[in-house]
Amino acid sequence: MSSIQETETIIIGFGFSCVPLLRELDRTGEKYLILSDPAPSSVWSALKRAGRLNFDLVSSYYTSFYSFDLVKDFRKDMYPLAGDFYAMHLSYYEKYKDQIIRTHVTRIENHKGFSIVHTDEGSYKCTNVVISTAFTRKIHDSLCSFDYSVKDKTIVFDTVGDSSNLMISKLLSGNNKIVCVTNGFLAFDKLFYYKGKTATLDQFEFHNLAPLGKFYRAFIGGSPYLFDQFFTNIGGKLKWKLKAARLVTPEIFWFKYPELIHRDEADMTRYHKGAAFPNGFIAIKYWPIDTYTEMFGKDLENAIRQGYLLNDLPLWIEEGMVKICKKSETQIDRENKTLSYKGEVISYDYFVQGGPEVPRLPQILIMNDGAGSPPEEYKYRVRKNYLGVMPENLSNVFLLGLIRPFTGGLANMTEMQCLFIHKMIANKSFKEGVTATLPSRIREYAEKYYITAKDKPTDHLVYYGTYTEEVAKAIGINITAKDCRSLGDVRRWLLFPNNAFKYRQFGEYAVEKCSEFVRYIEKTHDNWTAFVLSATTIGIYNLIAILFIAKLFTGGYVGLVGVGVLALLYYFLVARNLIILGLLAASPVFISPFNYFRFALVIIFLIATIWGPPAIVLPILGFEILMTVIARRYRKDISRHFFNDMANKRQYRGFIKEYMETYRKVVHGNA
Ligand SMILES: Cc1cc2nc3c(=O)[nH]c(=O)nc-3n(C[C@H](O)[C@H](O)[C@H](O)COP(=O)(O)OP(=O)(O)OC[C@H]3O[C@@H](n4cnc5c(N)ncnc54)[C@H](O)[C@@H]3O)c2cc1C
Repeated sequence: MSSIQETETIIIGFGFSCVPLLRELDRTGEKYLILSDPAPSSVWSALKRAGRLNFDLVSSYYTSFYSFDLVKDFRKDMYPLAGDFYAMHLSYYEKYKDQIIRTHVTRIENHKGFSIVHTDEGSYKCTNVVISTAFTRKIHDSLCSFDYSVKDKTIVFDTVGDSSNLMISKLLSGNNKIVCVTNGFLAFDKLFYYKGKTATLDQFEFHNLAPLGKFYRAFIGGSPYLFDQFFTNIGGKLKWKLKAARLVTPEIFWFKYPELIHRDEADMTRYHKGAAFPNGFIAIKYWPIDTYTEMFGKDLENAIRQGYLLNDLPLWIEEGMVKICKKSETQIDRENKTLSYKGEVISYDYFVQGGPEVPRLPQILIMNDGAGSPPEEYKYRVRKNYLGVMPENLSNVFLLGLIRPFTGGLANMTEMQCLFIHKMIANKSFKEGVTATLPSRIREYAEKYYITAKDKPTDHLVYYGTYTEEVAKAIGINITAKDCRSLGDVRRWLLFPNNAFKYRQFGEYAVEKCSEFVRYIEKTHDNWTAFVLSATTIGIYNLIAILFIAKLFTGGYVGLVGVGVLALLYYFLVARNLIILGLLAASPVFISPFNYFRFALVIIFLIATIWGPPAIVLPILGFEILMTVIARRYRKDISRHFFNDMANKRQYRGFIKEYMETYRKVVHGNA
């Protein structure tokens, strides 16, 4: 034991995740050591070595970089290139490289209040251990080594995710046939575009409205029903809602291909009572062909060279370029390289395994001091860690970077986790308070955010803005109504996305210029006016419906029973399930000026309903339907569904050929 080196905190694994923690530990002068592999095994360094950093991230700039880097120059949001992301990692490696002790950690013995960390070369004693060793996943090997120059082959993926989608985008130009075996998946457009104005997916999630529960689901999901479909197994036997939704919006991918919706065996009590947006869901984020064409079509060669690749999976499925097979109905014979699905037998050449993300934890032994029982091996379960950071049965051990975002980037998660861990290390009374209440905190969080009774391999995936808010609350740096001094403050509190830098505008973890940065982003997003207009429009439509029923009653057209029946019909058939979907069908691209025109119209409709006879709602409804039909036919640019608008994609078919030819020329040197 005498050769054991002692320190306060040990960080195992140097990578991008631990950077904000090192910054805070240095700021408050804590003692720490970093132990990391002699040859870093990060997936990014492997991709760099393989010359494969030619793609763009699935997370936006604002969610992929840390607050203290973002404030250096206020830039417009976009999807950064993998090379730039890796360059940021390298710059931090350069900064800290002299502090890193290059050694592999083999085992941690966790005692009450301290740990012994064993490495290849020696042992260390410390109070706190922070493990930031990242995940491993089978598909990482394929990402680094799969031969993308193959042609006319059949390639099977047993997964649909961002990594497989990246691989598919590099394989299609070789005329390869792609087959994906999946339990269903979610897919979202990465960016909304209108005449040079852009908005990334993750900046339009309005996380602090999530406590509104169903209303929030209604707005974000297009309809509470669509949300229910995405997250649970409550489709129902008759599926009338799905049919009705399809009638109103037949060109949304999910209504066209309902068998591809992912459904879970949800515990319905948890689903109804829990967070509006539960944990455990995975979605691919892709460039829709219309946005891609608008943004990159004029200089395609350069875009492809940089790494902006067209990866519109719903379109590939629609065009028959990617075949999807339901996992539960597919038999795979790996020996004979065949796959059977619905009576069809497909011979394949390559099989790419996705595999779950598995934390690369060193062995951890719970030493059971004084209990008289032998040491026990720690078994990782996401749901048994507070905020995915503090395991219930370990003492002063923190997990960093093992919670991942559904949309947005890892940086938001890790920055907030780092602040939490720092406070646990640097503030004794805070640490005592959290530790004393740990089991109840873990239980409450799990009940709120997990809707399945059983653990899932994707339990570590969270909705970034509700997660950051939970961590901010735990640290005590969340923004509340009491902090608001002006309407602008209220708007920022409720509507500004919960990026980590939102919590660093003021207070104990303030970063200089974050407040100005938040205001800059607000300005470039028109202060979320588009959202306010859309939400108010929906509210006014509901008001018109209520006024109509009231007028029927006061005009003597229906009695109380009639009012009851109409109100129930309206609530269950329209307001609860379809109105929002219907509105979306007619909805102009929300960042286009057409939103204002539409809002003005709705105000006129409201005035007409107040002053006119009840029958006035008929021309109003008629006008709404006419406007929808005309816009969908002649102005697809302003009447596009937010996500997966198949009708809108169809008109860009011709671009696919041009894209594939350019890709072959740029990447493989032939057309
Ligand atoms: C293709 C791809 C695309 C991605 N796209 C995005 C994206 O768009 N946005 C986004 O935010 N994220 C994305 N990610 C995920 C994420 O950014 C990275 O995985 C992230 O860099 C992980 O950082 P980290 O610090 O947690 O881990 P790493 O950078 O992997 O660092 C962990 C370090 O720990 C060391 N280590 C491991 N075990 C031990 C041990 N026992 N002893 C000592 N050292 C050890 C490793 O050698 C490594 O140096 C993507 C990942 C992939 C694969």
